[in-house]
Amino acid sequence: MITESAILIATVATAAAIILAIKSRRLTALQNALQLESKTSHDRLQQQIHDAHEERDRLLDALGDAFLLVDSEGRICFANAAAHALFGKRELVGRPVLETFPDPRLAVAPMQCLETGEPAQARVVLPQQTSPRGDSETRGVNAWIIDAALLPTPDGGEPTTRLILRDVTAEHQTEQIRKDFVANASHELRTPMAIINGYLENLLDDDMVNDPQMARRFLSVMRKHADRISRIVEDMLVISRLESGEAAALKSEPFRFRSCIKDVLERLESVIRSQQAEIIVHMPDEALILHGDRFYWTQVLFNLVENALKQNPHPGLRVEIGCEKAADSHHIWVADNGIGIPSADLPHIFRRFYRVEKHHSQQEIKGTGLGLSIVKRAIEAHGGTIAVTSVPGRETKFFITLPKAGASAEIQSNAAG
Ligand code: ATP
Ligand code: MG
Repeated sequence: MITESAILIATVATAAAIILAIKSRRLTALQNALQLESKTSHDRLQQQIHDAHEERDRLLDALGDAFLLVDSEGRICFANAAAHALFGKRELVGRPVLETFPDPRLAVAPMQCLETGEPAQARVVLPQQTSPRGDSETRGVNAWIIDAALLPTPDGGEPTTRLILRDVTAEHQTEQIRKDFVANASHELRTPMAIINGYLENLLDDDMVNDPQMARRFLSVMRKHADRISRIVEDMLVISRLESGEAAALKSEPFRFRSCIKDVLERLESVIRSQQAEIIVHMPDEALILHGDRFYWTQVLFNLVENALKQNPHPGLRVEIGCEKAADSHHIWVADNGIGIPSADLPHIFRRFYRVEKHHSQQEIKGTGLGLSIVKRAIEAHGGTIAVTSVPGRETKFFITLPKAGASAEIQSNAAG
């Protein structure tokens, strides 16, 4: 009896043990499967986060402006490719934003935003020495817009500030040139206007109209200054036409360069004769044809020859005009053996209103300083360049290179006069 029940108990126990073992193995398998699945989804999540970061960096790297993220302690935690390119080899991530900028004026807006949480923007004009570009900065003055704003963060997240640094040097320069232009133009117009008004006062208020000889003298001075005003206004209109993109509408017609030289020499004939200047033309190919706007090429040549004559009114002046074909361009030059241009002035002479000799007496009007500015813009509008060298007393040479392709392509047929 005892033996039978013992066998039964043992059998039941064995069966229970087997069942337990099977269940336990199933549980382990289930646990393993769960662990595997959780690891897979964790890995997948990590990968997704990594991909999202990469995508964000790719998008931010595509920005042309320098973009930085700054944590609540004021340390940079991200910098895009443009920021790395801008700051050169300098380390950015992990550094306090205050230390990153070589000029404290750039840090004002970011610090204000970090302190108040409010967006802040500043426009900063810096000298070459403290440009964010460091040693690679070549521009004397550089201008920047720095824009700081707090990024929206999820609840409990670390507050982050984004900074955008944009280079606005080109816009600043254009604005400066425009301001200078208006200031210079008003100044240049005011002088002849004041002279005309002065003579008018003499004529009318001081009753000089009754002295015909005096009146005639006054009127002729007034006419000279009125002519000067029209010339300035005309020159300013030409410059603004060339600068306003109308250059694209320049005529592009074939013309003989020799005929252009002939026109200019005819216009200046009386000055040449009275100054007993010697004019030499070098044109190996007399029939050379250029393609472009003949009106502007005549202006270019006129101004260069007129300058040589005007700056050297004494006998003994030799002016050489040359034009010849090179491999893929035309070379045109005007040289003289006059007083020349001091080397300190050479880099500036193509600027509007720039003159080496600034004094204008009431009788002698030498110029406004707009001629070379028109020359340069007209040549550039044709795709060419102009350079100048000067050894005072020996040779002052304006040298134009005009590419044959495109606007100035040489045309062998249908040449116009
Ligand atoms: P504008 O041409 O408007 O009547 P301008 O002749 O004074 O006036 P630019 O033609 O622009 O002005 O020339 C600028 C300055 O460059 C001149 O005032 C002169 O000082 C200098 N310059 C130009 N060409 C010569 C030259 N061949 N020799 C000496 N100085 C020159
Ligand atoms: Mg001139």
